[in-house]
Amino acid sequence: NGMSVQRSITVLGATGSIGASTLDLVRRNPGAFRVEALTAHAQVAELAALAREFSARLAVVADPARLADLRAALAGSGVEAAAGPEALVEAAARGADITVAAIVGCAGLAPTMAAIECGKIVALANKEALVSAGEVMTAAVARSGATLLPVDSEHNAIFQCLAGNAPEHVRMITLTASGGPFRDWTADRLVHATPAEAVKHPNWSMGAKISVDSATMMNKGLEFIEAYHLFPVGVERLRILVHPQSIVHSMVEYRDGSTLAQLGPSDMRVPIASCLAWPARMDTPCAPLDLAEIGELTFRRPDESRFPATRLAREAVLAGGAAPAVLNAANEIAVAAFLAGKIGFTRIVACVEAVLDRGLPPPPACLADVIAVDHEARLRTHACMEPVR
Ligand code: NAD
Ligand code: MG
Repeated sequence: NGMSVQRSITVLGATGSIGASTLDLVRRNPGAFRVEALTAHAQVAELAALAREFSARLAVVADPARLADLRAALAGSGVEAAAGPEALVEAAARGADITVAAIVGCAGLAPTMAAIECGKIVALANKEALVSAGEVMTAAVARSGATLLPVDSEHNAIFQCLAGNAPEHVRMITLTASGGPFRDWTADRLVHATPAEAVKHPNWSMGAKISVDSATMMNKGLEFIEAYHLFPVGVERLRILVHPQSIVHSMVEYRDGSTLAQLGPSDMRVPIASCLAWPARMDTPCAPLDLAEIGELTFRRPDESRFPATRLAREAVLAGGAAPAVLNAANEIAVAAFLAGKIGFTRIVACVEAVLDRGLPPPPACLADVIAVDHEARLRTHACMEPVR
């Protein structure tokens, strides 16, 4: 592999889709990484199996009720076991050389912030944490000297295309979007979309929540906010372009008229590898890109009348303060309600808009404020969903 020194690594959300892709790369590069901590929500058996396989020093399950099970599953392995939200934060605070933040949702915010405070490398997949915390997180990165590397394929592409160029040279950053499984559905048909249809993404295999976000285009909305914080070029120099093949992962246009794009297969191991090896490069088992086979790359403007989520996200960035955290929290609750069969597909984004329209709390100034805004917005979303059912 292309790396010389062994790096310690912690994977927050080790049992998920990004966690599995990360550990697959660790597995394929023996000697390159030493696993410090692995965490999961409640999947004790899966977590214990991974902790044993990778000889992790610590395994943490977020659900405090599962501690005894985890201890039993790790008996004789020498892996330390812990449970609960504080243990999750402590695992992140161990300051591995690289912490992969791959928990889904705002639940990952506190541990991600704890990893950032260590001033090492944080490979961020958990976009909801950055969307919610915004400047609170970017300020912590600046203060601690941490290196925040984007795992999200679009942001990883932009990071690579920026290649250290100053923001003032950038004319436009284009985030590409597959358009999701309902890209070509009519507005009438969208109303009846089911959870099973929504989680079946044409190009990517991902966790349930982000799959639904792709279907509503809220994923691209969250990514717009994520890009706003990661690449300070201003909202007016960020745009979204639908690209059904998901081969061009994003692009940067410079003031001289040059546009740089990053292309690759639709496999998250490519952007994850770029973070794990950064600033070097490492091998992945991904099939090389065969453009002759793919044949055509097409692009079109997003349709915000059928998919209003990206408009809401842009408005939330412009409103600033608590708006992105409220948008994210409302979306998490509405997506869970949709997956549970409680609300229809188009109600997801309608709920988010309704909650945002009911006014905003004051701008959060610290992590505790963000968590309070998130909590409050979740309660308001539940209240907002009840009467319309
Ligand atoms: P997933 O649902 O497959 O996995 C989520 C992980 O987080 C699991 O390990 C789970 O145990 C853990 N987790 C869930 N809820 C938790 C909680 N309350 N407390 C502690 N741990 C919890 O999700 P995923 O698809 O791997 O996505 C993870 C993150 O990466 C998300 O923020 C997603 O938006 C982002 N992302 C994913 C992809 C992808 O291809 N899957 C691509 C880009 C970005
Ligand atoms: Mg993405």
